[in-house]
Amino acid sequence: MAYVIGPACVADYSCLEVCPADCIRPRPDDPGFDSAEQLYIDPRSCIDCEACVSACPVGAVHEATRLPTEISGYAEHNAAWFEETA
Ligand code: SF4
Ligand code: SF4
Repeated sequence: MAYVIGPACVADYSCLEVCPADCIRPRPDDPGFDSAEQLYIDPRSCIDCEACVSACPVGAVHEATRLPTEISGYAEHNAAWFEETA
């Protein structure tokens, strides 16, 4: 299980600053950050601490098993970002 960032993300990286597992990307100094539509959580590293949930100002972070139906594809979308950029 992991947490998932959905399309409401405004890429302000508040979550990235509180994540103890360093599993949210891209960072502001990563290539492509300026053009990133949102940030993503690496499901292989997330430790389910929920720190990102309370840090997010727009409610964009969801538990993977409780994703709203309309964004059910975002667990895969988050994981795919790391596969494509690894
Ligand atoms: S739940 Fe915790 S470990 Fe997982 S992305 Fe959020 S802050 Fe990072
Ligand atoms: S805190 Fe929320 S809006 Fe900001 S980057 Fe993280 S998921 Fe996106």
